Amino acid sequence: PRLANQIAAGEVVERPASVVKELLENSIDAGANRIDIEVENGGVRLIRIRDNGSGIPKDDLALALSRHATSKISALEDLEAVGSLGFRGEALASISSVSRLTLTANSEGQDTGWKVFAEGRDMETISSPAPHPIGTTVEMRDLFFNTPARRKFLRTEKTEFGHLEEVVKRLALSHYDVGFTLRHNQRTIHQLRPAKTRVEMERRIATLLSPQLMDNAVVIDMESPDLRLWGWVGLPTFSRAQADLQYFYVNGRAVKDRLIAHAIRQAYRDVLYGGRHPVFVLYLELDPAQVDVNVHPTKHEIRFRDGRSVHNFLFSTLNKALASVRP
Ligand code: ADP
Ligand code: MG
Repeated sequence: PRLANQIAAGEVVERPASVVKELLENSIDAGANRIDIEVENGGVRLIRIRDNGSGIPKDDLALALSRHATSKISALEDLEAVGSLGFRGEALASISSVSRLTLTANSEGQDTGWKVFAEGRDMETISSPAPHPIGTTVEMRDLFFNTPARRKFLRTEKTEFGHLEEVVKRLALSHYDVGFTLRHNQRTIHQLRPAKTRVEMERRIATLLSPQLMDNAVVIDMESPDLRLWGWVGLPTFSRAQADLQYFYVNGRAVKDRLIAHAIRQAYRDVLYGGRHPVFVLYLELDPAQVDVNVHPTKHEIRFRDGRSVHNFLFSTLNKALASVRP
């Protein structure tokens, strides 16, 4: 089974950024409101993520590392309406099959924390005591140490860290109630306190993306019986360097979807000038049963049950908002 893990690991573990994405989603699923991320060498040498979520009971530690062990789907119907970010139960198994992974956790009702260790195909299934507050720390070292072919595809430290930081940004922009810190090679890159008010949220966006984005952004908040769209859209008055400030979430999940991209581009048509790009941070909320998120393992793609009404709603809401501020 460990060999199968290594082959399948390619589905989720492409680079340090994909490890961070899976681990952060786990922390959020566990209800953490404080997540500290420590990275060395672009994430290749070390990724350590510590959260204050519910933790993992001692008896479940080894299980958490085994394939298809998920605590998140109890009934088959749950697959129809997936609420939590993770639901396939293979991330930790995949990551541990291509790195050296230590899982340390403590949970309610235990008087100490416990840890397990896995290195490539070898797993230490006996947990040993290790002090830890309630919550979980996942420490991943030496990514792809046992799969040189995959290691060759890694880019420079700067590029890998760039991808990793982008993952953190994307998550931080959809979980304002969570405080994040990100450190790279002992340097603090981001320190984000939980944001509750709109002003605090806007401050987080400005810090992470661009202060100018918030200067002339239009606040969106529109509701129909089945759909809600809220967030911020900026006029496309930014430089090329800021052309990729496009964040769209469906039920809290960052997505890149053609139908959504098309609706937004159409809405911007009247205000796009000089080849500039739309900039936005937007959140679409709808009944989870109306969305199919299981299109691809990395979960960026989605499918709407009723794509046409989603498209119409996005277009008309944004077009109206943008028309009101047309330069
Ligand atoms: P999935 O998230 O799809 O269930 P994972 O391989 O990512 O699968 O995680 C396996 C299991 O380990 C989870 O279902 C959860 O029970 C536990 N787990 C992993 N990370 C954490 C964490 N940070 N806090 C609490 N539990 C965790
Ligand atoms: Mg997971």
